[in-house]
Amino acid sequence: METSSREREELRASRIKERPSWYSPLGHLLAPTAFGLGISALGVLLLEDVRPWEWLTIPGFWIFSNFIEWHAHRDLLHTRSKRAPILYEGHTLNHHMIFPAHDMAVRERGEWREVLLPPLAVVMLVGLLVPVFAALWFAGLPNVACFYMITGALYVLSYEWLHLSYHLHPKSWVGRRALIRFLRRHHSVHHDPKLMQRWNMNVTVPLWDWVRGTVADKDAAEEALRPR
Ligand SMILES: [Zn+2]
Ligand SMILES: [Zn+2]
Repeated sequence: METSSREREELRASRIKERPSWYSPLGHLLAPTAFGLGISALGVLLLEDVRPWEWLTIPGFWIFSNFIEWHAHRDLLHTRSKRAPILYEGHTLNHHMIFPAHDMAVRERGEWREVLLPPLAVVMLVGLLVPVFAALWFAGLPNVACFYMITGALYVLSYEWLHLSYHLHPKSWVGRRALIRFLRRHHSVHHDPKLMQRWNMNVTVPLWDWVRGTVADKDAAEEALRPR
């Protein structure tokens, strides 16, 4: 699925043309962030007399979220399905084609639209946490239910903020942070069309890639990042 730079520029130009005049990049980032933080704050307010073992569910839920991220990225965003073609089109056909591994940075804030999830998707992802939250709550584990909701909502936000950070200019203040440089490399390699269907599927922290052995090897990574 290699795309010539001319095709890429045409796609980029057409996406800019389609962008509504009212589009606000900061609103696109901050409105879902406020929603996620609000849900998390509500979860914190509902906590009562937390027992030591209940705190330990937080790392467990984080690992579960990392596992879900790996699968959702591979099985929904990189797999064409009749039920939700928009996921494959938005991610594999637009996001990956606009940003090849060697040219990952947005050129203007308006291109955040090609990186961030649609705001409604963030609301839906947080909404997907509700059934397990309710099951834990009614099973008599309200604190664990709240930790599940808080961890899940903050995980979705961390996905958004980190992913956007990788697509900022590498020389920007955010782009120069050591943590972002390390995580960006992992995600940039995933942006190689030859590797994207199988390798480096985690976008936040590549834990599940290590567990599943889907970290691209050094030679493939270096080839993917070679300037063209
Ligand atoms: Zn990306
Ligand atoms: Zn991808």
